[in-house]
Order: sequence, then C-alpha cells, then structure tokens
Amino acid sequence: MNFTLTEEQEMIKQAAKDFAHAELLPGVIDRDEKQQFPSEQVKKMGELGFMGMMVDPEYGGSGLDTLSYVLTMEELSKIDASSSVVVSVNNSLVCYGLESFGSEEQKEKYLKKLASGEIIGAFCLSEPEAGSDATSQKTTAIDKGDHYVLNGTKNWITNGNSASVYLVIAQTHIKKGYKGINALIVEKGMPGFEIGPKENKLGIRGSDTHSLIFNDVKIPKENRIGEDGFGFKFAMKTLAGGRIGIAAQALGIAAGAYELAKNYSKERRAFGTEIANHQAIAFKLADMHTQIEAARYLVYKAAWDKDQGNNYDISGAMAKLYASQVAMETTVEAVQIFGGNGFVKEYHVERMMRDAKITQIYEGTSEIQKIVISRNILKN
Ligand SMILES: Cc1cc2nc3c(=O)[nH]c(=O)nc-3n(C[C@H](O)[C@H](O)[C@H](O)COP(=O)(O)OP(=O)(O)OC[C@H]3O[C@@H](n4cnc5c(N)ncnc54)[C@H](O)[C@@H]3O)c2cc1C
Repeated sequence: MNFTLTEEQEMIKQAAKDFAHAELLPGVIDRDEKQQFPSEQVKKMGELGFMGMMVDPEYGGSGLDTLSYVLTMEELSKIDASSSVVVSVNNSLVCYGLESFGSEEQKEKYLKKLASGEIIGAFCLSEPEAGSDATSQKTTAIDKGDHYVLNGTKNWITNGNSASVYLVIAQTHIKKGYKGINALIVEKGMPGFEIGPKENKLGIRGSDTHSLIFNDVKIPKENRIGEDGFGFKFAMKTLAGGRIGIAAQALGIAAGAYELAKNYSKERRAFGTEIANHQAIAFKLADMHTQIEAARYLVYKAAWDKDQGNNYDISGAMAKLYASQVAMETTVEAVQIFGGNGFVKEYHVERMMRDAKITQIYEGTSEIQKIVISRNILKN
C-alpha cells in the first residue's frame, strides 16, 4: 500500500487550493445570497483544465487520473460547493459519459468543447415522478426513422440554464421498460426545448438548478449515445463514477468546515482561555478529524479502484454514503463551535452546513447508496 501522492497529484492539489482561495473565496457569500452562477470562475476553471480533467488530451482534456480529479474537487469544495458541483457534473457525468460511450463524431462535436471548458454540460435523468426510481421515465423519445421526437419534463437539472449540451435520458420502447430507454444529446436552443425557472434552494445556491421542458423536440438519430436501448445502462454506469465526485465534494465541505472551526477554536476565548482548551470543543475536533480521515480514505480508495480498472460500484457508493454523512455531521458541529458567529453568513460555516445536505440527496440518496452496497455484499 502506498498512501503518498505523486508529485503531479501534489501539484494539482496545490493549484486547486490556490485557485479556490484566490478566485472562489471572494464573492462566495454574495453568490450564495443572490443565487448567482459562478460564470467567470467556471471560465477560469476551464482555462486551468479543471472541466475535463480525466478526458484524453486528444479530446481537449487534461488526461489526469481520478485521484487528481478527487483532490481538485476536495480543494474547490472546501471553499465553494456551488462551483465544485459544476466541475463534478461536467467531468464525471457529461465528459465521462461521452468519452466512454459516445461515437467518434459526438466526441469531435461535443466532447472537445466540454472538456476544454468552452461550454458546459448537464446530465438529465430525474423527473417529477422518477427520482430514486429512475426506471420510471415518463419522458419519451419516439423513433421517427432518422430522428427522435422528445417530449416530457426533467427536474432538478444542475447547470440547467448555463449548459449548452444536455445528455437526456428518455423512454423509447415503453413495453421494454428500462431496456427501452435511450440517452440523447440535446443542444440548447433546439426548437421546442424550454428551460423552466431557477429553483430557490437551501444550499449550493450559486449552482443553477432548473426543470427542463421538451415539446416535440426533434433530435437527430446520430445524437443517440450507444446502441438503441442503452440509455439506462449509460445512466447507471455514468452515475457510478459521478458518486466519487460527489463523495469528494462532501469530503471537501467537511474538511473546509473543520479547518475553519479548528482555527476559530484557537482564537475565540471563553472563561479565560481559548475554547480549544475546553475538552468538549477539543473532543469535537478530534471526532471531526477522525471521521474526515476515514471518509478521505474511502473516497481515495474509490478513485483508485476506478483508475485500476476495478469495479467501483461498492467503493463509490460507500465513499458517497459515508463522506456525505461526515459532511453533514461536521458542518453542524462547526456551526456549534462558532457559537452565535456560526449562525451568521460572514463566517461561512452556516453556508457549508446548508451545502452539505445536498450530498446526501443527489446522484443517489443515502438510502439508494445503501441499496447498492447491500446488494453488492449480499451477492457473495
Ligand atoms: C440541487 C439538486 C441538483 C440536482 N441535480 C440533478 C441533475 O443534474 N440531474 C439529475 O438527473 N438529477 C438531479 N437532481 C435530482 C436528484 O438526483 C434526486 O432529487 C434524487 O435522486 C432523489 O430523487 P427524488 O427527489 O425524486 O426523491 P424520491 O425518489 O422521491 O425519494 C424520497 C425519499 O424516499 C427515499 N427512497 C426512495 N426509494 C427508496 C427505496 N427503494 N428504499 C428506501 N428509501 C427510498 C429516498 O432516499 C428519499 O429519502 C438534483 C437534485 C437537487 C435537489
């Protein structure tokens, strides 16, 4: 076993940290308050190669391993989870999905721009009646020979209004159930494609979440990803990797809140001494540190599994389940350590507590992760 990062991984981690402090930290409170999408910051992350980190340089990516991506997600999420979710969706859902399963023409046309950050993408699976139960797709893509006609509504789509390219899951052969589902590449501006109003959210408020409405949208056949009926498998395989990115986001939120709380505890005085000298506070920090380290090893292990070509269904699900729980618990305790200051915006931890919650919900809720884990362990 080797717990040491390579020189390259250390450099990437440092670059992400420097970027987060220089570019994400200023304005993070304001963007959260105003629900403002971090357009400028995303553009700069594209220039740094953060938007297509694992994509082959042939297609405009950085050609890095999953661990480098996870380290970047962790550092960005310590400061601004609204920005890191844009990175996560673009990298692990959109770029990964297209690079792994798209045709050469699709990679040339879409992946190059997505991986370089010239444009960003969205991944559209959830619907008003199909969340955890993603097989119940009501959106239809009816085969009309050389094209599909797309009708239906998608819910909760991250990058909903900021994306240019949308990977949309839809039912083509209703009688075949989940085996009749397809994944289609939809471009913003296609006639009949409307974007619903922005959601007013508890957390990750800087990210751009919308419903999408499709009314007789004509999608050329060459925009289908993979064989006819591959859409559900496409979604599940892509989400398995996406969970590692969200696990890293959760880890980053936890680590960021912990670092702030630790520093604060060494400055704030009560009863004649720094609050860190009260064992109740020191023990909170000990628990937080231990849980974050445990989450970190699960997240890095899942990334390592993916890089080794191992099955990462269970390690990704465990990483997301545990890291998101740690993110929630750590941020609640961080607010507690800050006392009244924890309850106001300028100290950041209240935002982190709000942001942490989503990591237990999207890309498969904690309950769904437990289904994935239990099915895997009971197979043997
Ligand atoms: C901010 C935000 C961004 C999002 N971004 C995207 C995106 O970009 N693309 C996208 O496709 N989706 C996105 N989603 C949707 C997200 O993935 C879903 O909200 C999530 O999968 C849960 O689905 P649901 O909301 O329909 O909840 P439901 O499926 O209705 O679940 C409700 C509750 O029941 C539990 N539950 C459901 N089934 C079971 C079961 N079998 N056993 C035990 N418990 C169960 C759930 O765990 C949950 O606690 C986003 C959501 C949010 C809030």
